[in-house]
Amino acid sequence: MFEASKDVYSSLRQRFKGDLLRPGEHGFDDARTIWNGMVARTPALIARCIDVTDVQNAIRAGSETGVLTAVRCGGHSLAGFSTCDGGMVIDLSRMRQVTVDPETQTAKIAGGCLLGSIDTATQKAGLVFPSGVVSHTGAAGLILGGGTGWLTRRFGLSCDNVEAFTLVTADSSVVRASSVENPELFWALRGGGGNFGVVTEFDVRLHPLTSVVLAEGLTPKDQIRPLLEWWRDFMADAPLDLKWNIDLRLAPHKEKTPAELRGQPVASNSLIWTGDPEAGRRYLQRALSMCTPDSVSSRITSFLDLQTMADSEFPHGRRYYTKSGYFSYLDDRTVDHLLQALAAIPSPEIQIELACLAGAAARIGASETAFGDRSAPFILNLLGSWSEPSADGANISWIRGIFNELRSAMKPGVYVNFMSGDEPDRVQEAYHERWDRIVAVKSHYDPRNFFRLNQNVPPHTIRHDL
Ligand SMILES: Cc1cc2nc3c(=O)[nH]c(=O)nc-3n(C[C@H](O)[C@H](O)[C@H](O)COP(=O)(O)OP(=O)(O)OC[C@H]3O[C@@H](n4cnc5c(N)ncnc54)[C@H](O)[C@@H]3O)c2cc1C
Repeated sequence: MFEASKDVYSSLRQRFKGDLLRPGEHGFDDARTIWNGMVARTPALIARCIDVTDVQNAIRAGSETGVLTAVRCGGHSLAGFSTCDGGMVIDLSRMRQVTVDPETQTAKIAGGCLLGSIDTATQKAGLVFPSGVVSHTGAAGLILGGGTGWLTRRFGLSCDNVEAFTLVTADSSVVRASSVENPELFWALRGGGGNFGVVTEFDVRLHPLTSVVLAEGLTPKDQIRPLLEWWRDFMADAPLDLKWNIDLRLAPHKEKTPAELRGQPVASNSLIWTGDPEAGRRYLQRALSMCTPDSVSSRITSFLDLQTMADSEFPHGRRYYTKSGYFSYLDDRTVDHLLQALAAIPSPEIQIELACLAGAAARIGASETAFGDRSAPFILNLLGSWSEPSADGANISWIRGIFNELRSAMKPGVYVNFMSGDEPDRVQEAYHERWDRIVAVKSHYDPRNFFRLNQNVPPHTIRHDL
């Protein structure tokens, strides 16, 4: 593989305008590092592109030599797909332009943007693009997998707000995909991940919003069952302006945590209300009534503060592992399992995250995009983080064990962006009834599976005409 990378380097050296970084060179070590510290790999070449021509040249050289190639935007792939050993990384971190048109409420987002760069640019015009909850996440990986966050119920998934993609495909052509240009590709790019090419620009729709009401509170152990039951029933018809996430966890030993809850199993509630604050008050009060009063807070917060408030909880370089799935309904047995899991949770750094999507995301038909399941409203994400490699085995096996206990109650399907790198068998499950269609698009645009470091959809060996 190193030989192939040398050939790529020789081929790119004369015409590449960005940076070509090789092991031992200044800046290489920083450039090779991705967010999940458990994935430490050493590519032979990092091609940090500055424009579409650089991306085309890198893909052409990679494809001619057959070198293993990863694509990197923000480097937040939980599975570690944005790096590789001995191959090439196409790094888009110098392509972070965002151009906002306040008149049409649209933006053009370059393929290497982080969520924070989009939020900063769009807020200058009082507009938002619905994306994820941590500002140092890459936009490209998030949008291509679907993209959920605080605004999903109100405005839909990130991919639902894309009007067109510009990408470089495996044969190094520049292709546009929208509802009128290559519509099958447009369908596949909305949820199908990095399988079809390197997206260099997203044309997206924006929405007016500058602040929200943010309410938070901790529910003590003995109140968690009624809380979950109420949340489950209430969210079925909740207003689109309300997003309510619940994390089951051990309460942190922080000053703002009431002393009697520190280190105890709790449900940590985070709610936002995007509408008129007065109209949301009763919903937020009802939810917070199940929390320990000293733990409750409620305030109007700017959209930029909302989007960055979780940044420090997910630092680069720690070791992360996740397992995820959907529930159509949280039946009593599932609630029992969740409570048992919480009672046995081994550390404050493992969380059982519960979110309810539905809302605007569920108003798009199942066959309109490649994105996994829109009909099962509840998403479970078991997420652990730690710093010592010696803790890998115990933490990973605890998360897998809880996942296996809950699995039978889950609806088949998974959100590809919440998958770890050890479950390739679940990619087909993620797309289930859309599988044949997505394979056909992959087979057309990437018949040799050049883009395979992703939640991979393998092509048929025979090229299909679309
Ligand atoms: C701290 C943290 C918070 C998160 N929060 C959310 C959240 O709120 N909502 C949510 O939906 N998800 C969330 N995620 C999951 C996130 O969507 C995925 O990890 C996503 O892959 C990150 O995108 P990235 O560009 O940073 O990833 P990268 O690691 O750079 O790439 C991930 C995948 O996308 C492909 N890719 C990247 N850029 C391009 C491109 N320009 N063209 C084509 N393919 C490309 C890569 O090939 C790779 O397969 C979070 C992840 C982390 C680590």
